[in-house]
Amino acid sequence: KKQILLAERPIGTPDNNTFQFVETGIGQPENGEVLLRTLYVSVDPYMRGRMIDTPSYVAPYELNKVIEGGVIGEVIESKSDHFTQGDVVIGGYGWQTYYTAKETEVRKIDKDIAPISTHLGILGMTGLTAYFGLLEIGKPKEGETVVISGAAGAVGSVVGQIAKIKGARVIGIAGSDEKIQYLTEELHFDEAINYKTTSSLKKDLTKACPNGVDVYFDNVGGEISDAVLAHINKFARIPICGAISSYNLEGHDLGPRVQSTLIKKSALMQGFTVGDFANQFPEGSVSLAKWLQEGKLQYQETIKEGFENIPDAFLDLFKGNNIGKLLVKVADQ
Ligand code: NDP
Repeated sequence: KKQILLAERPIGTPDNNTFQFVETGIGQPENGEVLLRTLYVSVDPYMRGRMIDTPSYVAPYELNKVIEGGVIGEVIESKSDHFTQGDVVIGGYGWQTYYTAKETEVRKIDKDIAPISTHLGILGMTGLTAYFGLLEIGKPKEGETVVISGAAGAVGSVVGQIAKIKGARVIGIAGSDEKIQYLTEELHFDEAINYKTTSSLKKDLTKACPNGVDVYFDNVGGEISDAVLAHINKFARIPICGAISSYNLEGHDLGPRVQSTLIKKSALMQGFTVGDFANQFPEGSVSLAKWLQEGKLQYQETIKEGFENIPDAFLDLFKGNNIGKLLVKVADQ
């Protein structure tokens, strides 16, 4: 089987030296285990954080070990009473073409509600992040204005649609004209702003948010967030989901201090990880699946093909080369 290991801890943007491809034997399952063939591998921005050795909410990746992350695989041999050949499962065993899993390491997914890949996206981790970050922290009310950065990505595209379901006015910020068109024409955001081509994001926000900003769902941090924070209303809520603009920085990210703004506006800024809401996942999953089936939620995936393209796909996240969830298809079911 093929595996991708963390060869060295990146400084700045990861490159080919960060990763090492190796081949090794496929282990045979013992009692209580299943042999899995990888179908889809998820690449996610948080993985960049695990490549360095600093304390966080998940342990850093170990050097010369497989890069762990979300995977969908098919059971090709089962020595477990809970799984049969052909079952499709989700697990966190990472960048490898086969894996022998203990039955407790993976969970069977429903193949019938939507394509299996959605369990890594809108029906999985990124969908749940959008759902809980927006509804538990952002708490948008009807008629309020919600601004989302990283709006055309896996999390952002779902946040905007849920905010529309809740009756908010929704403004997305993203990095290409194709993304802007996707947000306004297909996802029916009220406005979308291309931060890469605008001459003044602040002025565009003034125009797009005549009543100010009540909820700012922040996926990116940096200068985009500085511009949005200048527009927040009294009692604004600001879920801090991600700060991708800083993940590859070598030094600290510097910018305006936020305390005065938050005090003047009695605003709430709260960081979170999706795992904070683990005991509510069943509720979130049911709502997301229901909205998807009712056509109230749409999704797009950017799917790269081939195991050897996983590192490039991961790096694409930082270049903005994806609309919706970025996945790598490793094998056909
Ligand atoms: P996306 O699908 O949104 O992909 C990343 C996107 O980020 C790119 O497409 C790009 O879009 C944008 N981007 C990349 N670099 C920059 C930059 N320097 N400045 C501004 N935008 C940039 O990824 P996800 O939806 O999976 O994740 C979105 C955010 O949410 C990330 O910050 C991630 O770490 C965070 N996250 C947090 C979780 C939590 O539990 N708190 C869980 C999951 C994700 P563009 O073309 O618009 O620049």
